[in-house]
Amino acid sequence: MTNPDLPVSRRSSVGVSIGSVRVGGDAPVVVQSMTNTDTCDVQATTRQVAELAFAGSELVRITVNSAEAAAAVPAIREGLEVLDVRVPLIGDFHFNGHKLLSQNAECAQALDKYRINPGNVGRGSKKDSQFATLIEIACRYDKPVRIGVNWGSLDQTLAAQLMDENAKLAEPRAAHEITQEALIRSALDSAARAEELGMARDHILLSCKMSGVQDLIAVYQNLAARCDYALHLGLTEAGMGSKGIVASTAAVGVLLQQGIGDTIRISLTPDPGGSRSKEVTVAQEILQTMGLRAFTPAVVACPGCGRTTSTFFQELAQDIESYIREKMPDWQTRHDGVESMTVAVMGCVVNGPGESKHANIGISLPGSGERPVAPVYIDGEKAMTLKGDGIAAEFQKLVEQYVSEHYASK
Ligand code: SF4
Repeated sequence: MTNPDLPVSRRSSVGVSIGSVRVGGDAPVVVQSMTNTDTCDVQATTRQVAELAFAGSELVRITVNSAEAAAAVPAIREGLEVLDVRVPLIGDFHFNGHKLLSQNAECAQALDKYRINPGNVGRGSKKDSQFATLIEIACRYDKPVRIGVNWGSLDQTLAAQLMDENAKLAEPRAAHEITQEALIRSALDSAARAEELGMARDHILLSCKMSGVQDLIAVYQNLAARCDYALHLGLTEAGMGSKGIVASTAAVGVLLQQGIGDTIRISLTPDPGGSRSKEVTVAQEILQTMGLRAFTPAVVACPGCGRTTSTFFQELAQDIESYIREKMPDWQTRHDGVESMTVAVMGCVVNGPGESKHANIGISLPGSGERPVAPVYIDGEKAMTLKGDGIAAEFQKLVEQYVSEHYASK
């Protein structure tokens, strides 16, 4: 579901089909992610791609960095088919992509898109021919490409050339502006070269990733003004935990609000042993919070304060959130529109009844010193009052009942 009052995407961007998924043009902003398994480990990679797809990733990228990894790709694709996971697979190539794709036709065929980094395609005289080989293979197999520039692997020849030109100006621009320009030029020049080599515009996506929020915003605003290619958006090396989430959200949020970005990835470093799917959840939450898409019913919970001195309120809010996430895969297959439902879990009488009335279904728990009862509101009306030890279980039942009664069976 999209909010017509907000920009769905930069409306002038050219739509690209990646397997069964449409990116750009009028399509909603698409969520993607990347595995961190060794691609040669077919089982582990298949499992993680399935996990990411199950979490809601609509495109999944895998590293293809060796002949063994390239040979594993068709087996990963087959393994996913056995699991009935149809998510498009993107191959991430650096340095040797021209060789790997030339020498492994099954890999070239099994992937749905190739990511090419112009800064890592090759050095000196080999760069142009190796880039041409990648584009020719993509054209032969009718695969789109993402020309993905990253400031950590920027084309140094181009950067040096722009720095030299700048130094000769009467009023040279700041070095960081030249770096930004080098990223954009690298993407645009490579895309123009790909078109000269026969690639259609609707087979090209661009990205120019940086790790600074203001840099990323400036680069994408400039890039979007200078081309109509579909854009992949993300802050690179965003970092761990709340720092990574906040930095990514700030950068991606500003750009999406301006209608820039057709697909997003949130590059989080997982906690040791943490789930890779976190980056998918964060990407979905950004899009849903901004009203651009709806993926799962939203739980509106107050932060709690001195009026909620027991942990019961936090536990109930967390239980409801986990319950909805657990149930959603099933609900999604059976109930149309359930992803737009709002559930409120509020801590006391101050804002509890008001916020609960705005939700589809909401509960206002008793704060400290209040009568130990919890009114439940359904579609803006007080429907009942829960009390006693079973409040959490009873409220979950009411949510389940609300879903069955209000969202049509598919
Ligand atoms: S609704 Fe009540 S418990 Fe929640 S933050 Fe407001 S005053 Fe505190």
